[in-house]
Amino acid sequence: MDEFSLIDSIKQTYYSQPTLIKGIGDDAAVIRQSASDIVTAVDTFVEGVHFRRDTMEPFHVGFRALAANLSDLAAMGATPAFYLASIVIPKTWTEIEIAEIFAGMKKMAGKYHMDLIGGDTVSGKELSLSITVIGYVDHDKIRYRHTAKAGDIVFVTGTLGDSQAGFHILTNPSSYDNAAYFIKRHQLPTPQIDFAAHLQKFTRITLNDVSDGIASEAAEIAEASRVTIQLEDNRIPVHETYNQFPSDSQYNWKYFGGEDFELLGTVPSADWSELKSVAKLLPVRITKIGKVINEDTSGKVYINKDGRNYTLPKQGYTHLK
Ligand code: ADP
Ligand code: MG
Repeated sequence: MDEFSLIDSIKQTYYSQPTLIKGIGDDAAVIRQSASDIVTAVDTFVEGVHFRRDTMEPFHVGFRALAANLSDLAAMGATPAFYLASIVIPKTWTEIEIAEIFAGMKKMAGKYHMDLIGGDTVSGKELSLSITVIGYVDHDKIRYRHTAKAGDIVFVTGTLGDSQAGFHILTNPSSYDNAAYFIKRHQLPTPQIDFAAHLQKFTRITLNDVSDGIASEAAEIAEASRVTIQLEDNRIPVHETYNQFPSDSQYNWKYFGGEDFELLGTVPSADWSELKSVAKLLPVRITKIGKVINEDTSGKVYINKDGRNYTLPKQGYTHLK
């Protein structure tokens, strides 16, 4: 299939977003400015670096790449609207596989009425998919990570370590409890867009999405807000069958594994019970995992385990180390 028939096959026949004036089909897309602020982010997924063909079907590659990007919009409090997809296609990938990547993106995009408004298609040695997302947020409802204050409650949505557990199951075949659940969390993650969208009534709430692990995400909030974050090890939420995995893996995955695409945040303690009610209605599981303290302004994260305080290293998956 040539570039032009690929573009034809992914071109939408209608637009979901009222602000879209021109999508795919000209030299660039055109969006009419709305009253909201525009929030945009880009993420790149490279075969062999971000995913392996033996643990991800092409559909998962597209679905997960867009999910990871949407997770960043959720962490800003933004509502997704558009995406652009730039793809490098090697000769070893079939037309059907490429179509499946786009089908995966379309499935994720459809959940949030997003339009695919452009991209680029080129050939190359490794499959690489770079997605740009565009969303909207009301002026005063953006969720920056520099707004945490001493006394805030630290919370996280969902359960942690699941994605790494799923990857472990895929790469270490054996019999596991709830294997399908963990594998799904790895291949088809759900960004917490709906949760973020239901926080309109809160004036101050800090959010960061769990892409590199909560050790790293908590440190980013602590650094940006110039506070210390104190976490309680026995409060970190994990799946009820998480204890089937080796104990050092349990520890590593929940703090440093990442890719669960949950939201880590802080909220004034006076708003905590209201936040719990909002989450319960959706429903989204949220758990209080610690608090913000004033001790140090350099961005430290402590973890209390068996009555002792440890400094949690800011580590996670980093590419340039
Ligand atoms: P140009 O040569 O003017 O850069 P292209 O032939 O690259 O245009 O693209 C034509 C149209 O198809 C543009 O609207 C572009 O955004 C869109 N497009 C190209 N590749 C993709 C892709 N992988 N995903 C989505 N849209 C794409
Ligand atoms: Mg081009």
